[in-house]
Amino acid sequence: MDYKTLLRDSIKALPESKRAARQPVSSYTTPDFYRMNYNESPYGPSPKALEALAEACKRPNIYPDWFSVDLKSEFAKLHGLPDMMHVSTATGSSSLINILGEIFLNAGDEVVLGDPSYEAFRDTVNVAGGVPVMVPLDSEMRYDLDAMLAAITPKTKMVVVVNPNNPTGTFVDSAKIEEFVKKVPEHVLCVIDEAYLEFVSKPNTYSMIKLINEGYDKPLLVLKTFSKAYGMAGLRIGVAAGKPELISYLGKSGAAWNINFLGQRMAAAALQDQEYLKKIAGLNAIERDKVTAALKELGCKVYESQTNFILFKAPKLENTEIYAKLAEQKVLIGAPVGMNRVSIGTAEMNDKFIAVMKEILK
Ligand SMILES: *Cc1c(COP(=O)(O)O)cnc(C)c1O
Repeated sequence: MDYKTLLRDSIKALPESKRAARQPVSSYTTPDFYRMNYNESPYGPSPKALEALAEACKRPNIYPDWFSVDLKSEFAKLHGLPDMMHVSTATGSSSLINILGEIFLNAGDEVVLGDPSYEAFRDTVNVAGGVPVMVPLDSEMRYDLDAMLAAITPKTKMVVVVNPNNPTGTFVDSAKIEEFVKKVPEHVLCVIDEAYLEFVSKPNTYSMIKLINEGYDKPLLVLKTFSKAYGMAGLRIGVAAGKPELISYLGKSGAAWNINFLGQRMAAAALQDQEYLKKIAGLNAIERDKVTAALKELGCKVYESQTNFILFKAPKLENTEIYAKLAEQKVLIGAPVGMNRVSIGTAEMNDKFIAVMKEILK
């Protein structure tokens, strides 16, 4: 029996996923491992969020609120949105990215993406039988927004900008993104993934949720996650903001409401502690400068990062060799796009990473 015949056509034709960041190592590494491969927060969540988690842990028997009223309301309040009808949730923004394919894409629809960018988007397009239209980043790994606009055709259903971008760490000024969004024609759903926006240190940085607040009336969705700056990757909570009509369509997928009680309670509490988030971003920026300088001193090509990770190319050895030699010392990093990506850890983690890199490259 050839089980493949059972598959949906778009799944039969599915190209191999390029999610290079995924590595076959036990996710529950012992504490002596330096986890610098998934852009997790080494600081964990706000103490207020941990308190909410401890409370929620006492009641694992009850179903979560299907509509996530508290979480959505807190999120709306923080971002100045009129109400929770402008907000959708899912089990991580990975899940929201899947929902986009499930709800909006027909076979053959084109989706304009940056290359390299977050591979989950390309996977989602492929699963839906859509056509990923890959627009190369410039030589410094920044989005070429004019080329993205030029790639839009009557067949385009969606355009995605991840800002700051993963796996490159590069950032485009908010004013430029806003200008870009406004130029996207109205037959195209514009998706801005802001998974790392909290880490940006540049002045005049703002979320594209601003446009939604200003009544912008072309299709726009802004994705956020609790996995990075909020330090809750294991709880799987992602949020999308947009016009209520668009948000209501996301709700057609079960994944939009089937989120867990612990994460829901915790995320609502975390939103109330923005001071903690600022502290984390400050610590991260100091360490990011330190790691950047150290890698440059070792002769690496380093791309300018505004996130909690750095993409770099070592002056010698293949990226997979660098990765393997670090792993021998229990330092886990990524090896995407022929280069390496290291997450910014605590000062101690970064010092260890730098020391091992010095060894490897000497
Ligand atoms: C980490 C990341 C996400 C978030 O994924 P979750 O499913 O929320 O953990 C989304 N987009 C980008 C670009 C990311 O790097």
